[in-house]
Parts: sequence; C-alpha cells; structure tokens
Amino acid sequence: MHRYVCGFNHNRGASACSNAHKIKMQTLDAHALDAIEQKVLRPDVLLKAARRASAMIRKRSGEQPDLDARLRKELAKTER
Ligand SMILES: [Zn+2]
Repeated sequence: MHRYVCGFNHNRGASACSNAHKIKMQTLDAHALDAIEQKVLRPDVLLKAARRASAMIRKRSGEQPDLDARLRKELAKTER
C-alpha cells in the first residue's frame, strides 16, 4: 500500500524536516477529489473561471492582435 510522505523527512531524515506524517494515497486522493468536486466543479465557479479566461484572452488579443496568428503557427509546427 503506497503512502504520501514528506520527501525531506523521508529522504534526509528528521533533522531536515520533522514532519513524519504518512497517509494512504487512496485516502488522500479520495479527500482531494471530494474537495475538488465540492469546491471547484460547481457551475458558479466554472462560469466565473470561464468569464475570467475569456476576458484575459480578449485583453491579450487587444494588446497583441497578431497573437492568434502566431499561436496558430506554433500549433501547426507541433502538429507536423
Ligand atoms: Zn517536510
């Protein structure tokens, strides 16, 4: 059974870090996914994030009108 630990404590000992807590990966992963589900994956939060992203994109393309073209060119390079 794998566990999360502090890397400093694990690799360099208690003098590097006194945090010797261990938690089962399965347990922490479940808690983290629950928290993400409850606090992030909500329509109001996602809508706010989408609006912010949209505003950032609009602002950037206003500052750099050629940005879209440059991004498309870069993308084309990666798709070759
Ligand atoms: Zn530590």
